[in-house]
This record gives sequence, structure tokens and C-alpha cells, in this order.
Amino acid sequence: MTVVVVGGGIVGMAAAYSLAERGREVVCCEKGSLGSGSTERSAGGIRTQFSTRVNVRLSLASIAVWESFEAEFGVDIEYRRSGYLFLAREEATVEDFAANVAMQQEEGVDSELLTPEEAREHCPELDPSPFRAATYCPTDGFADPHLALQGYSQAAAEAGVEVRTKTPVTDVHRDGDGRVTGVETPDGAIDADYVVNAAGPWAGGLNELAGVDLPVAPKRRQVAVVDPETPVPESTPLTIDLDTGSYFRPEREGAALVGGHFGGDDPEVDPDRFSASADTDWTVEAVEHAAAYASYFGPETRIKNGWAGLYAVTPDHHPIVEEVAPGYLVAIGFSGHGFQHAPATGRLVADLVVDGETDLVPLDALSADRFERGETHDERNVA
Ligand SMILES: Cc1cc2nc3c(=O)[nH]c(=O)nc-3n(C[C@H](O)[C@H](O)[C@H](O)COP(=O)(O)OP(=O)(O)OC[C@H]3O[C@@H](n4cnc5c(N)ncnc54)[C@H](O)[C@@H]3O)c2cc1C
Repeated sequence: MTVVVVGGGIVGMAAAYSLAERGREVVCCEKGSLGSGSTERSAGGIRTQFSTRVNVRLSLASIAVWESFEAEFGVDIEYRRSGYLFLAREEATVEDFAANVAMQQEEGVDSELLTPEEAREHCPELDPSPFRAATYCPTDGFADPHLALQGYSQAAAEAGVEVRTKTPVTDVHRDGDGRVTGVETPDGAIDADYVVNAAGPWAGGLNELAGVDLPVAPKRRQVAVVDPETPVPESTPLTIDLDTGSYFRPEREGAALVGGHFGGDDPEVDPDRFSASADTDWTVEAVEHAAAYASYFGPETRIKNGWAGLYAVTPDHHPIVEEVAPGYLVAIGFSGHGFQHAPATGRLVADLVVDGETDLVPLDALSADRFERGETHDERNVA
């Protein structure tokens, strides 16, 4: 049985690896080079502090893989666990935080609700005065997406996956009954029993070729690396001012990565035509936001570099992982969490292809028709 995986980002490679491990013949088609989509533009964050059970479970299943990644895949992904600290300004956010921590703890997560003063123990340069509450989990952290992709692609190749870079999928073939039979590429057709859409922000284009319409929108997001006036120690958590959307985390040698999406305007962009460098105005604004609550970012802060990439966003900020047409699976719409959730997603895709079901997470929360059923639960811990 042959499976074609479309997309050589972290989700496609994790899916290809898991499918090959379960005995499937896998061809992965990537239109550019591996990682050339969003994966290499990610901030690498890995956390359990989500607001929905399904996202927490995707995290726990994925973190089990990230923890043992070096032993299993032979690549050190520079996984650093300096925690995540969420900060609330609004009363409604405080209420969410209390509910989130209760749910996370039920799922076995080591998170806690803190006062802003207590949060300073983890982030000493934090100004607690604008905030009403915080949540913290010491085992959250981040890793290097490039190294993680390298680990998955090496393991996939060893497991027998045929990786074809510079190979765009230009059509999806279906038979008279509507079942997918393969894909078209400039080098010719590839017959397949299953096709997996792991095309990240380009997912909509492939869905169109397959005759499927799903609500996934590419949205531009930016990050910048700065040399703060006061170096940010590596022990500092990834700190998120949730009500403004601003966040920062330590980089190496005192540098910091700052990010966030500010203001209401959030247009869908063309994934083939967007500016991949960070805007100067946005960078200044991102540093100002961080400076408003963390005194690391005084006036002597210098901007080193920055970039922009794309989130593939669904209306409830959860992915769609499902066989949406006979033989056609999607693993798309990760809404800014696709790096960290790739290991669990790879397993999910393999379970769906091989067994037609999974016990990893409840699938209705990731199904395409949840939007029509009106049964969505928004993920609120989104930066
Ligand atoms: C600034 C920024 C910060 C982020 N920070 C985090 C974070 O801290 N933590 C986290 O978990 N996530 C983060 N993300 C999100 C994360 O990067 C994505 O969710 C993840 O990389 C998605 O992986 P993917 O494999 O689905 O998509 P991609 O990496 O985009 O891969 C899709 C691939 O498909 C290929 N492709 C598309 N169409 C075709 C076709 N027709 N034929 C062949 N190939 C095709 C593309 O070339 C691309 O390489 C961030 C994203 C951005 C932009």
C-alpha cells in the first residue's frame, strides 16, 4: 500500500516516518526543499499550557517523543525546558487561567496559577503591576525546528521513505467513485492508495485540487531577535502577555526573541507572495510591547534580525486531522502550534491510514465538520 505525503515540513516528515514505521510504502513530495515552508520559521516553542483538553493531549503525546528524541533519532534538538509563563491583564483572562490550570492538572500537567508577584520569581525583570494573574509550567520550553526536521527526515529515509524535493504536486487524481488514486507531478503521476495533505499554509491549494473546501487561512506572523539592554538569562521562561499578544523568550548569550501579533487587522495572505522579512515598524512595536512589562528591553536594546512566516489558521485554532474524502487525509491548520504537535500528528495520521481510527486523542475535536456542527472549542492560549 503506497501513501503519498504532500509537504516536507515537520508535519509531513513526522507523518511519513510514522507511516513507514508501520510498514507503509511512502513517497513524500516537497515542492521546494525540506523545511522551506513554516517549519524553519518557527520559534520552536513546546508547551502543555493550552486551554483545551485535545491540545494538552497532543502536547503530552508529542513531548514524550521530544524528550527521547536524541535517543530515538540520534539528533540533539537543543531542547531547553525553561518553562512558559502566561500573564493576564483582564478579569476574563484570569478566569480562563484558573479553568485552564484545573484542566491541565487533571491531564497530569505540572502547571500552576500564580500571582503576578510570584511570577517574578521566574522572570525577575517582570513588572507585575499591569497584571492580575499568571500561569506557569516549568517543563514547557522550546527546541530547534531545523534539527528536529533533520532528525525526522533522516529517520524517515532510514525507514524507507522516498523523499522527492523540488517536486510540486500539481493535481490529485480520483476515480469515478471519488476515491483518491494518486497525484500528478512534473515528473509524472504517482499512484497511491492514500494522499496526505501536509502542505502547511499551502493546504488550501492542494485541497482545491482534491475538490475539498476547508477553513484554513494563511496568516503572516513575525519574530525578531534582539540584544536586550539587560541580557535575558537562559533560565527565563517564554513569557506571554496574553491580552496584548506580546511574547519573548531567551535566545543564546543574553539575546532574546520577541514576537506577537498586534492590532485587529489579520488578513489572509497569498503563501506564494508575502514578505518573509520582519517589518521595521512591527519590530519596534514588538520591542516596545515587551519593554512595557519586562525591564530587560530598555532603550539600549538593539535589533539584530527578524523574519516573517505563515501560520495556517482555522476558526477555532485547532488543526484538522481527518480522512476528509476517500483516500484523502489532511493534517493542516495547526494555527501556530504545528511544530510542537508534529510527533503526535505523525502518529495520528499513521493510525488513521493503517487502522482507520486512533486512541491518541478524541478525533471529533479535529474533524472538518465540527465547524458546521457548531461544536468547536476555541483555543485561547494563542500568541
Ligand atoms: C513566526 C512563527 C513562529 C512560530 N512559532 C511556533 C512555535 O513556537 N511552536 C510551534 O509549535 N509552532 C510555531 N509556529 C508554527 C509552525 O511553524 C507550523 O505550525 C509548522 O511548521 C507547520 O508545519 P507543516 O509541516 O504543517 O508546514 P510547513 O513547514 O509549511 O510545510 C509544508 C510544506 O509543504 C510544501 N508544499 C506545499 N504545497 C505543496 C505541493 N503542492 N506540492 C509539494 N509540496 C508542497 C511546502 O513547500 C512546505 O515545505 C510558528 C510559525 C511562525 C510563522
